Amino acid sequence: DERVKEIRRELDMHVSGADVAKPCISFAHFGFDEALLNVIIKHGYSEPTGIQKQAVPVAMSGRDIIGIAKTGSGKTAAFIWPMLIHIMDQEELQKGEGPIGLILAPTRELASQIYTEAKKFAKSYGLRVAAVYGGASKMDQFKELRPGGIEILVGTPGRLIDMVKMKATNFRRVSFLVLDEADRMFDLGFALLFSATFPKKVEILAREVTAEPVRISIGSVGQ
Ligand code: ADP
Ligand code: MG
Repeated sequence: DERVKEIRRELDMHVSGADVAKPCISFAHFGFDEALLNVIIKHGYSEPTGIQKQAVPVAMSGRDIIGIAKTGSGKTAAFIWPMLIHIMDQEELQKGEGPIGLILAPTRELASQIYTEAKKFAKSYGLRVAAVYGGASKMDQFKELRPGGIEILVGTPGRLIDMVKMKATNFRRVSFLVLDEADRMFDLGFALLFSATFPKKVEILAREVTAEPVRISIGSVGQ
C-alpha cells in the first residue's frame, strides 16, 4: 500500500520477500507488553530506528530475516526484542537447561556488547542471559551455564563449541538463532567455499541458513 511504500522510501529502506509485515513507526504498534515497553521508555528511546521499524514486525510474524543496516543503527535491539517475546511465548519454559535464544558473534568484544544489551531488556522478564567467548576462563563460563540453565546465550563460535563439548550447555531448545555481523562471521572460515565477491558470498550463505528470508536493508550498504 502507498503509505508503506512512502515510509520505506523515507527511510531509504529496501525490502524483498513475499508477504512481508508492514513497518511500524512507533513502539506502541509492535505488540509488545507493558513490561518491555516500560524498559524501552526507561532507556530513553523515543522511536524505533529504521531497521527496527521493519525488522521487528517481520520477526514477530515468525519470518527469517537477513538484515543489513550500518553500525549504530540499533540492530541488536531489533533481534533481542522479538527474541524475548518468542521466549516468553514458550509454554514450558521450565523444561531443559540450554538456551532458547542463541546469538553467534564473531568477536568477544561484540559478544560482550550484545550480552549487555540483552541483559538490560531481559531483566524485565526475569530471563537469564549468559555470554561465552575466548580469552576468559572456561571454568567460570562453565559454572555460569550449569546451575539452573539460561534462556539466552551469546557467544563466539569456538567457545560455544567448547561449552557444548564440556556439557555445560546444549542447543536442543534453540528455536531463535541470530548470526550477528554475519559477514565477519563467515570471514572466520566457512566462506572459503565460495568464489564470488565477498558480499555475494555472504548473501549466498545467509540464504542457505534461512528459509524464505525477508531481506531488509537500509541505505546503500550491501546493495
Ligand atoms: P548496531 O548493532 O546496528 O551497530 P547497536 O545495536 O549496537 O547498533 O545500537 C547502537 C546504540 O543505539 C546502542 O547504544 C543502543 O542502545 C542504541 N539504540 C538502539 N535502539 C535505539 C532506539 N530505538 N532509540 C535510541 N537508541 C537506540
Ligand atoms: Mg551490532
